[in-house]
Amino acid sequence: MDKILLGVSSCLLGKQVRFDGGHKHDAWVVDTLGTYAEYFDLCPEHQCGMPIPREAMNLKGTKDEYRMLTNKTLVDKTDQMLSWCAPRIEELRTKALCGYILKSKSPSCGMERVKIYPLHGGAAAKTGVGIFAKELLTAFPLLPVEEEGRLHDPVLRENFIERVFVMHSWNTLQKEGLTAGSLVRFHTRHKYLLMAHSPAHYRDMGKLVADIRKYPLDEFRDLYFEQLMSACIRHATPSKHQNVLLHMLGYFKKELDTFEKQELIRLIAQYKDGLIPLIVPITLLNHYVRKYNQEYLADQVYLHPHPVELKLRNHA
Ligand code: SF4
Repeated sequence: MDKILLGVSSCLLGKQVRFDGGHKHDAWVVDTLGTYAEYFDLCPEHQCGMPIPREAMNLKGTKDEYRMLTNKTLVDKTDQMLSWCAPRIEELRTKALCGYILKSKSPSCGMERVKIYPLHGGAAAKTGVGIFAKELLTAFPLLPVEEEGRLHDPVLRENFIERVFVMHSWNTLQKEGLTAGSLVRFHTRHKYLLMAHSPAHYRDMGKLVADIRKYPLDEFRDLYFEQLMSACIRHATPSKHQNVLLHMLGYFKKELDTFEKQELIRLIAQYKDGLIPLIVPITLLNHYVRKYNQEYLADQVYLHPHPVELKLRNHA
C-alpha cells in the first residue's frame, strides 16, 4: 500500500519549533500511524518568520473577533501569519492530502476550544480556533482534520483514521482516472461502511449513484464526495454496527448451521452491549467470508477499513 499523505503540525513530529525551543513529540502519531503515513509538516509560527525561541502568543479579543498577540509586548502577529497562510493553502491544494493532524490549544494550530483572553483582563473563553487552523478548515471543509489530544479518544481516533483511509482511496481513484464505472465500483465497495456511519446517507447515496448518467461526471464527483465525507464524519455507533453485521450475516443463510448463526448473533449482541470489542464479530465474519469465498463481502471496505495493526476496533 502507498503511504497515506497527512499534513501535521511540525512540533508533533518532535521538531524543536515551539516558542520555548521545545517540541510536542507524539509517539502514536510518529511511531504507530507513521508506519502508514508520510507527513508533510508545517510550523506556521516559525515558517511565517518568527524566531525560535520567541515570545509566547495568545488569542485576544472576543468570541466573534480576536487577534493573535504576543503575551507581554502585545504585538499583533495576525497579519504576518495570514500573509504566510494564503500561499501555503494554495500549496496544500496541489497535494493529495488525506488528512491533517493539528496541535491542540495553540493560537496558530488549535482546531477548537483555544483560549481567547479579553483584551483588558478577565477569564479566558475556550471558544477560539488557531489562526492557521481556521484558514485550513475553511479551505478544506471536507478534509479529515483532528488534534493530537482528541486522537487519544478511541472513538474519535477510529473515526478520523477511517475517514483518512476513505480519503486515500478517493484520491487514488482520482489519480487512476475517474470514470462512471470506477465511481460505481468505489461506491459498491463502501456500501456497508456508509451504512455503519449513516443509514440515511447510505440510502440517499444509493439513489444518487443510480442516477449517475444524468450528471456531467465532474458535477457528480463533487456531489458524491460531499455526501461521502459528510456520511463518514458521523460516528458509527454500536447500534449501527449491529445493523450492518446482521445484514452481513444474511449472506450466509445457506452455509451456516443454526449453531453457527446463533454464535455469531450472540457475539454481535455482546459487542452491542459493550462486553467485547468490534474486532471479535468482525474476525468471525471475515473467517466465513474466506471459508465460503463470499466475493461481495470480501470486497467490502467495512470488513478491513484500516490496517489491523492500528488496533482501532479493539476497544469495547
Ligand atoms: S503548535 Fe503549530 S505553530 Fe506552534 S510550534 Fe507547533 S507547529 Fe509550530
